[in-house]
Amino acid sequence: MNDTDRQICTGPWDGPGDGPGAIAPPIFQTSLFAKASFGDFVRQQAAEHENYVYSRGTNPTVAFLEKRLALLEGGEAAKCFASGMGAIGAVLGGLLKAGDHVLFVNNVYGPTLELAQHLGRLGIDHTVVTDPGADVESHLTDRTALVYVESPGTMLMKLMDLRALTEVTRRRGILTAIDNTWATPLFQKPLGLGVDLVIHSLTKYVGGHSDVTGGVVVGSTELVREIFYRGHQLFGAVMSAMEASLVLRGLRTLPVRMEQHQENAARVIDHLLEHPAVAAVHHPYANHAPDDPLVRSQLTGYSGLLSLELRDGGFDAVSRFVDALRLFRIGVSWGGYESLVSSPVRPGNAAQLAANGIPGGLVRLSVGLEGAQSQIEDLDRGFAATAR
Ligand SMILES: *Cc1c(COP(=O)(O)O)cnc(C)c1O
Repeated sequence: MNDTDRQICTGPWDGPGDGPGAIAPPIFQTSLFAKASFGDFVRQQAAEHENYVYSRGTNPTVAFLEKRLALLEGGEAAKCFASGMGAIGAVLGGLLKAGDHVLFVNNVYGPTLELAQHLGRLGIDHTVVTDPGADVESHLTDRTALVYVESPGTMLMKLMDLRALTEVTRRRGILTAIDNTWATPLFQKPLGLGVDLVIHSLTKYVGGHSDVTGGVVVGSTELVREIFYRGHQLFGAVMSAMEASLVLRGLRTLPVRMEQHQENAARVIDHLLEHPAVAAVHHPYANHAPDDPLVRSQLTGYSGLLSLELRDGGFDAVSRFVDALRLFRIGVSWGGYESLVSSPVRPGNAAQLAANGIPGGLVRLSVGLEGAQSQIEDLDRGFAATAR
């Protein structure tokens, strides 16, 4: 993590109306912006992506956040949304047309794949290749318009070689998009590896306080403009100024939080790797040597989301483990200040999970900021309960 990124996260307001020098970004709580003349109104409405006309389109508080996120990712432009799914929906729904094919590679966030399934009804079909090391080119068709990936992937946090991917897609003139939520813009910058669009759920680490949902798409001016006019303006998953100010508050401490999440996760993982009740740990820190060329070429740090496999993979054992935890709260989402636990294991779904490449006894941990020693003691409480 470098000081440039720290200063992008903490930098002062540079939008309109700094007035008396407010140190926190002003919240432009307004649905519309009145113009001095009809001529101004007509001119600005004709280029709504770069003018403040209506808050369903642009808003100065939201624009300030967009500018920071574009800078962090090294992109020309960014557009924020009311949620990560709002951003994903705007990319898929805004860029694709009937007859197009989308290739998903690696383990991808469940609702993203459900959306892809739904788009089948609109004539957009897709293929899912869960092996991050698969030969991508062999799965492309002449209708493939987009390759959509996650790295690290959902649930198993497997890495895929982004440079190798974009070498193929660029040659074939196919767009690529990545869901970069796990790594945050601080630890992975996919645009520099040739990816066209970077998506985040800002609900996770960037917001960081589990009090706001949001999403963003970062890319070239041209692609983001296209997504703005179709996926954003017409689907309407708009981030409000109030939500943007909450995400901006999170952004200011993102660098220090990520360093702490990383440190806590490493200590927790060191403990898990030694524990007899744990069959495997899934996280790049656990699964790759520090000098692994793939890690070195694309990740500059680790976040705190990992999964572990309990040796006893049944629903009862998972329940006993999860219920014994005190510090790790039971819930969806991740990336906030608080430690969270969840699991895809349900009574009788082992075969279904296996069919999707998810091992039995999988438990997902979002390692929060409470302190590694307490987190380890809490997990040991869980392991003691599974041994009963
Ligand atoms: C949570 C999540 C999303 C969706 O974001 P929301 O803000 O919940 O809509 C997308 N991708 C990943 C990897 C996520 O964890």
